Amino acid sequence: MDIKGKKVLVVGLGKTGVKTVRFLVKKEACVRASDILPLEKLPDEVRELKRDGVYIETGKHSRESFLWADTIILSPGVPFGLPLVEEAIRNGVEVISEVEFAFRYVKKPIIGITGSNGKTTTSTLVARILEASGKRVFLGANIGTPLIQIAEQDEDFDVLVLELSSFQLQGTVTFKPFIGVILNISPNHLDHHAGFGEYMESKFKLFANQTEDDWSVYNFDDFYVRNYMPEIKARKLPFGFTSTDKGVFFDGTFVRFGEEVYDLREMRLVGAHNLENAMAAIASTRIMGCDPEVIRREIVGFSPLPHRIEFVGEFNGVRFFNDSKATSPGATLRALQSFSGSVILIAGGKDKGVDYSMLGDEVARKVKVLILIGESRFQMQKELGDRVKTHLASSLEEAIEIAISNSSRGDTVLFSPACSSFDMFSSYEERGRRFKEGVWKYQKQG
Ligand code: ADP
Repeated sequence: MDIKGKKVLVVGLGKTGVKTVRFLVKKEACVRASDILPLEKLPDEVRELKRDGVYIETGKHSRESFLWADTIILSPGVPFGLPLVEEAIRNGVEVISEVEFAFRYVKKPIIGITGSNGKTTTSTLVARILEASGKRVFLGANIGTPLIQIAEQDEDFDVLVLELSSFQLQGTVTFKPFIGVILNISPNHLDHHAGFGEYMESKFKLFANQTEDDWSVYNFDDFYVRNYMPEIKARKLPFGFTSTDKGVFFDGTFVRFGEEVYDLREMRLVGAHNLENAMAAIASTRIMGCDPEVIRREIVGFSPLPHRIEFVGEFNGVRFFNDSKATSPGATLRALQSFSGSVILIAGGKDKGVDYSMLGDEVARKVKVLILIGESRFQMQKELGDRVKTHLASSLEEAIEIAISNSSRGDTVLFSPACSSFDMFSSYEERGRRFKEGVWKYQKQG
């Protein structure tokens, strides 16, 4: 694709935006970049770009730049609903995501993985299995390295494993994975999308350009996903807990795929949701020709990633788990389903306008004490407070204290917020670290 001399505006100047600008400069496009944050809050490379003469606007988005552009490239997390983006679209400006733009410059087969939850776990698992099978793997997009970083340089890899968010997919036009994996769909990010319909539509764009030569791997037990599947042209490989002749499924003891039997009883990832992730990984890597025994070995040996139902420790017979990455009620529900009961749940965070009542039945069944923090605590108390004994806490540390003073031998303290972290923390990682430090500190004192 020839972009030389074209007017391109990059919106968002984080790691991805900066790399995109660099690539455009190399391709001799006429580049501008815009970020709503002031210069001092942006990475140092932005100052370098400015010094190199790139037109950069910070602290605001100007209408003039949005209407000046032939193409606008949105960094991950920049919503399509931005009024200036909408105006640009109405004026005939092409608006795409960085993933779409980068895709136009890569050639190697892509395994694109999306879903409301489980993307990072499954993408990492798939990448590990492929590596263990001797393939040179790029793992990136929504995690780690942005795709633009390997644009025109993907000859070093055999396969590209991409974790894809709904934002990244919403801005695709020609993007086409060889294998598209959809793990599940649950209401999430409704503050950034115009509604559940738009959110679903963006996820399914993963399959939009696939042909009969491609593959879709999908969760057969997910109502929204299954209903959409007839619209897809690619070959289909379902996975789930429902036995099908042509899919990967769990029979209550083993995972089966045709004649193949996978014994995952020693798997370190807990919960039914992780079995789903494992099945999705089996389906994708079998399509890629990996050996079933290598697949099984890698899955069983895989430790949970930090902040995803991560075991923190056992103190006085009480087990502590950090699930800070649970930024939606769907993820928290799956975490609760992974325990048999007697859970002290710490939840709450930035309110994304989602419905917490979906947690009600599982909370009533498993949770002994609910402790709520953050911006969403009052709303959550309204929706869940009548199902279980509930406390409000003004900090995470106070929540840990309340949890410990309410706990007894055999209980599980689970920190699974159901919300994003930005009301009180800089990221879910910082939030998770603070939880672990809080637990360890308290145990030292106690
Ligand atoms: P993502 O990258 O989609 O956010 P992660 O693998 O980082 O997914 O997991 C995020 C959260 O969702 C964690 O709390 C994790 O325990 C939970 N989770 C993981 N896999 C699933 C799944 N298949 N269904 C529901 N929840 C899941």
